Amino acid sequence: MQIPFKQYGSLLADYLKPQRGRVIGLAIALLSSIVLQIINPQILGYFIDTAVEGGSQQSLLGAAIAFTAIALLTQVFSVAATYLGETVAWSATNALRVDLAAHCLRLDLSFHKAHTPGELLERVDGDVNALSRFFSQLVIHVLGNGILLAGILTVLCFENRLAGLSLSAFAVVALSLLLGLRSLAISPWADYRQISAEFYGFIGEHVAGREDIRANGAVHYVLRRFYELLQRWLPVYQRARFASTVLWATSVGLFTIGNAIALAVSAYLWSQNAITLGTAYLIFHYTNLLAQPIERIREELEQLQQVEASIHRVREVLNVQSMLSNQGHCSLPMGALPVSFKQIWFSYETSKHQNPERAKFPAPQNWTLQDLSFYLPAGQVLGLLGRTGSGKSTIARLLLRLYDIQSGQIHLGGGAIAQVPLSELRQRVGLVTQDVQLFQATVRDNLTFFDPQIPDDTILQTLEDLGLAPWLRSLPNGLNTHLGSDSSGLSAGQAQLLALVRVFLKNPGLVILDEASSRLDPQTEALIEQAINKLLKDRTGIIIAHRLQTVHRADQILILEQGQVLEYGDRSTLANQPHSRFAQLLKTGIGVGEGG
Ligand code: ATP
Ligand code: MG
Repeated sequence: MQIPFKQYGSLLADYLKPQRGRVIGLAIALLSSIVLQIINPQILGYFIDTAVEGGSQQSLLGAAIAFTAIALLTQVFSVAATYLGETVAWSATNALRVDLAAHCLRLDLSFHKAHTPGELLERVDGDVNALSRFFSQLVIHVLGNGILLAGILTVLCFENRLAGLSLSAFAVVALSLLLGLRSLAISPWADYRQISAEFYGFIGEHVAGREDIRANGAVHYVLRRFYELLQRWLPVYQRARFASTVLWATSVGLFTIGNAIALAVSAYLWSQNAITLGTAYLIFHYTNLLAQPIERIREELEQLQQVEASIHRVREVLNVQSMLSNQGHCSLPMGALPVSFKQIWFSYETSKHQNPERAKFPAPQNWTLQDLSFYLPAGQVLGLLGRTGSGKSTIARLLLRLYDIQSGQIHLGGGAIAQVPLSELRQRVGLVTQDVQLFQATVRDNLTFFDPQIPDDTILQTLEDLGLAPWLRSLPNGLNTHLGSDSSGLSAGQAQLLALVRVFLKNPGLVILDEASSRLDPQTEALIEQAINKLLKDRTGIIIAHRLQTVHRADQILILEQGQVLEYGDRSTLANQPHSRFAQLLKTGIGVGEGG
């Protein structure tokens, strides 16, 4: 998983450029604190020598004050460096988080089918978190500590050749040994992050499905899998920690040896009268100071492993291209939009680039829609019937281009649907899905999809037009009523009403209603019927119906069976043909789902 340096570079450049000033400030603060750290022991050495020689009180006092001042200044620079470092890191990672989230939202649904929400969370937050150090500290710390190391060794050489050379040799050995051992911790930590991504994926999925899990008595099963995951997690974590501990222990041992070398060299030189006591102290102090950059460089390079893994995964997500091309520039005409499907073949499974010749003769079980054709003129309404799983909702998804078809042509408003920019398409096609998704926000935000441009007057007028004003008045705080997550607090019927208003506010040219299969009470049903009538006025409509009474307003009827057209024609014609499937359905009067 080696990542070329160019990629690190481009990532750093992309996200650090906007905050160039802060990065420069950070570098200055860090380098200043490094220089001061090297200077300060010199003052202490001078202090010791002056004291031993019985120097004047005044020079001792001066040295003490200078020492304290420099120590304080070092702290000031350290605090500034930490502050700037955190700011840089958070700004850069937040920008990356936004980019990742926006990218994921742009990807087509097949990507989201393949990745659980928890996994994406770990990508967008967990991995990016790991990168925050990379942005703020890694480069500057490795560089800064490299400079500190070189500075210390140079100063030591100036103090005493023997001490300088022997400690330089020690530093080289220590650093290469620690770097050599660093690979020990790579794969355990990679395993750790993998299993933690799995864990959060599991949690996310099961928290979302908690109602079904409880209702189906699957709690024990889920808990068992939860424990199993935890049990797998612990040894992986232990292995990773153990590897890190071995590294830590090695470095502590090494620095003890370093100290011993420094003491031995100083004692020898002092006994030979080659150095003063102050210089002996300096050598010892600088050796101690060596530990910090060596340890830091090791730590940062160890981090680099995790960072590398994170960069790799983040890149992987960023490199996923949406299967949907969004190159079209054709605008949709205003008003109601005609819809035509010409010999549509569609499957959720097969890839888009399948050989079109072979696509004509597919294995029947793989196709969700087979050779489907219909034409719906502008302003007319199509009633779509069919058993569950016959492909009705799939037609709606294709019209919003949540997926692309493998073969055939879909036209909307006279032009090919693939030529319409996605944002415009989704603005002009309104869909009410089977299960309405509500957000944890006010009724207003849920209606406008957080669009502050839509004034309250418009919302209230729309509600009034749709006959929903009494419903709004029944809410405790009107538009400001807070809805819980998972549409808690709203019945299925109320959620449907809300979704209808949502679509109405978009003012689309094509409305698709995917009727909820749940039965509503007659009063809500009447409200919804009324709202639908208003909504369909001067618009093209496709009503996916589970109840026969909702298709009475349709101009055309299409009955699907296993993705194929079973019957298609004018509603009145079909209703008057005694042998048509539609007429039979009307006669028996049973729900479409159970019919046939
Ligand atoms: P219902 O009346 O229950 O809403 P439907 O007619 O709307 O059914 P669709 O949702 O269109 O049915 O599904 C048609 C077929 O496509 C089904 O066999 C279903 O299993 C399959 N299918 C639906 N969504 C997906 C998906 N995201 N990935 C793979 N297969 C899918
Ligand atoms: Mg459906």
